[in-house]
Amino acid sequence: MRMEKRRFIWMAFAVTAFYVNGSMICRAEGNTSLMERKEPSVFTRTDFVMDTPVMETLYTTGEDITEEMVQVIHDTDAGWLSWSDGSSELYRINESDGNEVLLSDEMAGYLEEIRQLWEASEGALDPTLGKLTQLWNLGGEDPVVPEEKDIQEALASTGFDKVSLDGKRFSMKKDCILDIGAVGKGIACDELMSFLEQKTEITGAIVNLGGSSVAAYGQKPDDSRWNVAVTDPRDTEGDYLGAVSIYGGEFLSTSGDYQRYLIEDGIRYHHILDPQTGYPSRSGLTAVTVVCDNGLVTDGLSTACFVLGWEKAGRLLEKYGADALFVDEEQNIYLTEGMEERFQLLKDSYTIQQ
Ligand code: AMP
Ligand code: MG
Repeated sequence: MRMEKRRFIWMAFAVTAFYVNGSMICRAEGNTSLMERKEPSVFTRTDFVMDTPVMETLYTTGEDITEEMVQVIHDTDAGWLSWSDGSSELYRINESDGNEVLLSDEMAGYLEEIRQLWEASEGALDPTLGKLTQLWNLGGEDPVVPEEKDIQEALASTGFDKVSLDGKRFSMKKDCILDIGAVGKGIACDELMSFLEQKTEITGAIVNLGGSSVAAYGQKPDDSRWNVAVTDPRDTEGDYLGAVSIYGGEFLSTSGDYQRYLIEDGIRYHHILDPQTGYPSRSGLTAVTVVCDNGLVTDGLSTACFVLGWEKAGRLLEKYGADALFVDEEQNIYLTEGMEERFQLLKDSYTIQQ
């Protein structure tokens, strides 16, 4: 969290510059009706919401609504996802003390999608890790390497078998805590996409939450694809590792061991936990980037694939029709077939393995 704030100003400039790069030039066509059509204007905005820097670029023939877009992200967080906001549905669930909760349609839908991801990933994505993530506190001010006995105790209250989900009826065991941080930004991206779809004057938009979750909508005026910069996991404030191109209607998500971590005795303890061990996942990866057509799924897949590793993730990615790139500790890059034509490597210290 602190690290994200520190990087805010740097990212605001770097990422915005990366998107805009000359694509504002609009061409007039030699056809009267097209000549009369209003060309879109471009608006950009950087803000801080969901504890993360948000960069927006909007192409529209109407007004600048980038502030409303930020509000959509804020409302999604405050209404459904926030750990700390007493009015959020997640907060209400985590305070339910073993009692049944009647969910909103939206939350019931999200939790069902998360349940399916849990099942399809064979538990690699597990939304019941709240006790463990609170114990490690890797997103907080004072992360610690917990005592082994505390990890084992917290592990005992995790697992989707502690949850009962039947449509809108939800309950979970008293000592279980939900943490849906692995899909939160993806859900915000989905809500944003639905909002943009209702606005006919918007021709294109790209929104980047914290550098790790991106939603692209519509087209750029020059019809080129949207390019998203991918961070080098071992040079996070230096040059980018590469760029991934995505179409309007697609989402991109990156999970990495460099986003929130603690280094103690030379060991990196990062925030993506292996639900089987209760410790940070040791799949030999430093980052995974996924592209798919659903924000929640894209975000959930990047977390799950990080835990599963390159070898085991193939079937899961195929099931959701997703493309992915995996970066390992030896600076090798592994690409799914669909990612090959999307990805452009910008650093020669990394090797793409065929
Ligand atoms: P992401 O950055 O999207 O990969 O999400 C990581 C966040 O999800 C962490 O900060 C935890 O709050 C939570 N988390 C960590 N490990 C897991 C896991 N295996 N399954 C689900 N959520 C997790
Ligand atoms: Mg995720």
